[in-house]
Amino acid sequence: MKNTVVIVGGGTAGWLTAGIIAARHCSKNTAVNETEVILVESPDVKNLGVGEGTWPTMRDTLRQIGISERTFLACCDASFKQASKFVGWSNGKNEHYYHPFTAPSGYGAVSMAEHWSATPQDIDFESWVCAQGTVCKQNLAPKLAQMPEYAFSLNYGYHLNAGKFVKMLHRHCVDKLGVKYIQGHVEHVLGADNGDISSIVLTDSEHIDGDLFIDCSGFAAILIGKHYNIPFKSKHHILFNDTALAVQIEYATNDVPIASCTVATAQESGWIWDIALQNRRGIGHVFSSDFTNTERAEEALHNYVKNDPFLASQQVTPRKIKFNPGHRETFWHKNCVAIGVSAGFVEPLEATALVLIEKSAEWISQQLPRDRSAMTVLAKRFNSVTLQRWQEIIDFLKLHYILSNRNDSEYWRQHQQTDSIPESLQDALTLWRTQSPGLYETNQRFELFSSASKQYVLYGMGFNTDKDQSAHICQKETSLIKRLRNETLHTTEKLLSALPTNRQFLNKVFGK
Ligand SMILES: Cc1cc2nc3c(=O)[nH]c(=O)nc-3n(C[C@H](O)[C@H](O)[C@H](O)COP(=O)(O)OP(=O)(O)OC[C@H]3O[C@@H](n4cnc5c(N)ncnc54)[C@H](O)[C@@H]3O)c2cc1C
Repeated sequence: MKNTVVIVGGGTAGWLTAGIIAARHCSKNTAVNETEVILVESPDVKNLGVGEGTWPTMRDTLRQIGISERTFLACCDASFKQASKFVGWSNGKNEHYYHPFTAPSGYGAVSMAEHWSATPQDIDFESWVCAQGTVCKQNLAPKLAQMPEYAFSLNYGYHLNAGKFVKMLHRHCVDKLGVKYIQGHVEHVLGADNGDISSIVLTDSEHIDGDLFIDCSGFAAILIGKHYNIPFKSKHHILFNDTALAVQIEYATNDVPIASCTVATAQESGWIWDIALQNRRGIGHVFSSDFTNTERAEEALHNYVKNDPFLASQQVTPRKIKFNPGHRETFWHKNCVAIGVSAGFVEPLEATALVLIEKSAEWISQQLPRDRSAMTVLAKRFNSVTLQRWQEIIDFLKLHYILSNRNDSEYWRQHQQTDSIPESLQDALTLWRTQSPGLYETNQRFELFSSASKQYVLYGMGFNTDKDQSAHICQKETSLIKRLRNETLHTTEKLLSALPTNRQFLNKVFGK
């Protein structure tokens, strides 16, 4: 008997989920498949079309669903992302630090962070333990052009055109993976006696039956929200941002540098993202409407664009997106599971949305329920893992705000208020004052942010871990630390002389 998975929504969440499940469970020869994947997309509701920064996980996802890196780079105007660069977050004075994708040297064997805290250094933590920030400063690629697809010298994700990404995934899923595509607007839902969804009904009255329904319908949340009324837990009291203004701007000329990192520049009441693609940049201002208004936010965005000589001088009207930061109370209910924006959404400060989609879809694909009783057990487990992930994301994003010394606006002052900081984060900070985040930081197998990420943000923002305590721990390891530090210096030098710039890499791959 066929197991039918019905995905509602054809945005990034819908197509990534379809691809990840179909790659494992289906083949192009649909007659022999035990699992059928159907994706239904409304012709009337546009997908978000933003979401252009990924984590390194996207390399595995693309490889797993059978897309070549060259095809992906060509179809999606994509380039490499190696880090996030945070500008003005500590003091609002253009100071910056990097949160790279490559872990500190010796990670897992020794804590360079403990040693760095104990011994005064004349350089920042990231440069002391990793080559990647220095490589980003030169706009270099994370690999040589002759390296195999998805291989690297430095760990990387991508910057991509979200609209083109969806189109590429759609083509691939239908042509190569046997996903069945139906264009139609879901009008209502038919329930079974046990409370499950038995079918969805489209505007033209077509019924689509299924065993598992995946709600990827974005803010509409037609299954998890409208049908099941699963409560939404707002996190607005922790993360204040609720509006985004987005623009896309071409380069001034076709030889200006393509940045290797997402740049997040702190503003009076939010921050501006800047994502470099092959042919343009995606730039936007995320802000809190409690502390500023759209006109003021738009002015800050225009000033940012105007002052950048590498951007073409264009008058563009930003697209405004309103959102309520938060997530569902549960994500899998009966035979319906929500992935993507229907499950929750918070500001894209660490580009956590796509990675959560990938991880959720991978979890479901690995454990696709074979019968209805298995589904109840799996739903409980999925809810527990996903809730932990959301809590982790919220704590990690909030960390960026509470470490700031900025007090130039009410927005930054309110972010420091204890009652806006989750208890779990307050506990973590208490611990980090005497010991650096380490491998035993969490007991979670499914954690999103490693202790390396926490170290980069803490020490990038100027946080102090008690120096005497650290000194005591580190004495025994001095010679190893010295060796690792020399290795980082050597690697940095080698990479700076060997790696092409992003633009040189892409020109070479595309024979320009
Ligand atoms: C400003 C901004 C910047 C972002 N930046 C990043 C980033 O850098 N990195 C990152 O990882 N994420 C980012 N995100 C998040 C990312 O954009 C989303 O997670 C991603 O686009 C997934 O969206 P989705 O597929 O869940 O929803 P959508 O793209 O909204 O898709 C919803 C789909 O559901 C369909 N639909 C709706 N109603 C019905 C119906 N009744 N019947 C049938 N179909 C229906 C629509 O037609 C559409 O196809 C950003 C988001 C915003 C707002």
